[in-house]
Amino acid sequence: MLKSFILTVLIFITYSISIAQNKSQDIYNYKFNITLSDSTDSIYVESEVIGVTTENKVVLNLDNSMYIDSITSNNQILDFNRISDSTYISIPSDKFSVNIFYRGIPKDGLIIGKNKYGDRTFFGDNWPNRAKYWLSVYDHPSDKAKVEFIVNAPKRYTVVSNGKFIKKTTSGLISTYHYSTTHEIPTKVMVIGVAEFIQKIVQKSPFKIKSFVYPQDKYIALKDYSIAPQVTTFFEGMLGRYPFDKLYNVQSTTQYGGMENAGCIFYDEHSVDGKYTNESLIAHEIAHQWFGNTLSETDWNHLWLSEGFATYLENVYMEKKYGEDTLIYLMDNARLSVLKYKNEYPNRVLVPEKVNNPIIMLNAYSYHKGAWVLHMIRNEIGDDVFFKKLKDFYSKYKYSNASTSDFIDMFSKDYGKDIKLLLEPWIYSNFLPKYEVKWKFEKGKVSGNIIQTQEGSLFLNNVYLLLDYPNTPVTKKVSISSKNQSFEFESSTFPLNIVVDPHNYILKDE
Ligand SMILES: [Zn+2]
Repeated sequence: MLKSFILTVLIFITYSISIAQNKSQDIYNYKFNITLSDSTDSIYVESEVIGVTTENKVVLNLDNSMYIDSITSNNQILDFNRISDSTYISIPSDKFSVNIFYRGIPKDGLIIGKNKYGDRTFFGDNWPNRAKYWLSVYDHPSDKAKVEFIVNAPKRYTVVSNGKFIKKTTSGLISTYHYSTTHEIPTKVMVIGVAEFIQKIVQKSPFKIKSFVYPQDKYIALKDYSIAPQVTTFFEGMLGRYPFDKLYNVQSTTQYGGMENAGCIFYDEHSVDGKYTNESLIAHEIAHQWFGNTLSETDWNHLWLSEGFATYLENVYMEKKYGEDTLIYLMDNARLSVLKYKNEYPNRVLVPEKVNNPIIMLNAYSYHKGAWVLHMIRNEIGDDVFFKKLKDFYSKYKYSNASTSDFIDMFSKDYGKDIKLLLEPWIYSNFLPKYEVKWKFEKGKVSGNIIQTQEGSLFLNNVYLLLDYPNTPVTKKVSISSKNQSFEFESSTFPLNIVVDPHNYILKDE
């Protein structure tokens, strides 16, 4: 996801306090039959939730603003109890299949209203845990499940959703759309979108890519979204097959710049101009189909595995298309964003121990420091090993969840240098390295020390030094094992200057 309207996002702080991971139950299938109307914003939902539990209850997070008519299993009425945003359903066995019948006007999560042209639209917008305002789910990224949406809506609308399009039927004034996912996805990216769209196929095989746009923006939006196949082809080359049944790119009222809903990406309705200005946004959201949606973080404190990865992969896409200078420019902007955030919140770290409110994680560290961590590993171990490891990490955890330590383990395996020790200060400490170099030229040798002057841990990244000779500057690599690291090079003449990290391979403090 990309932030767009920070102020709007902050409004949700008060009521998006985190739901904790629930290890006693595992939901593997949701089915939602949703009826929408033009005469009211109230929705009616018949849901089915299938899973297992080690206790004699199921816990779901459907918000209190939704009125529950009844909950049943095999046509037997079940007892339930609603406390705060949790519904506790008593069940007789460890395997469960429960049906929840509920109705109401969603307070959030499914945004029913008017788009920028004043046309009525319905758009799911769940991140981080706002699915609970309209879906009877356990609203935590660790509990992924397959999902099926059956949506009944006035027939003038087109309905988009996750997964495979199964069928559309029309009866009288109502059309029913049916979608179903082949793979488990997190609740944060389960979605429907309902509007009067113009649609266009932009790729037929090996999987379908379609664009859905407002009729008024037909020409510019269809043009902007038409680059999607280039982006998916690029990431398939890097990471392996596109992970879902199809890809829809959808103009929407999401409060974010873009929202990576699995196989059904929503973009801010204002982000189209017919000039491909949103290319990096499209690359970011498509990168999330691999990192975030398929390999998902185990908990909110590991959000960088989603946002840092999508940000870096977006930048790598831009590098491959527009050249290395573009990557340098983007990483430089990312550095400024990290330094600004560090200045504002000097005690924060990339991966905190615990997160009470996931909105806090929408910060420069999750996006930009996360991207920098990947960039620095790439600089350290080289492109071949880096991109192989990235692919291995994805392959190992696809359609599942991973934590930061899973990431560290993958990158540490089979690699000579201790990548774990190298990575930990970047991930768990609030410091960045500051370098000073002291040197002299004597008897045909340049010698000296690279001194790390920051408080806190040693940073083990190799440091390059540029020996600035008048005609041909020379770059030398120094392996670091101490905060006061000595070096010595043969040198026939006196360098004018020595520059530390001339290519900006390291995220340095000012
Ligand atoms: Zn993102």
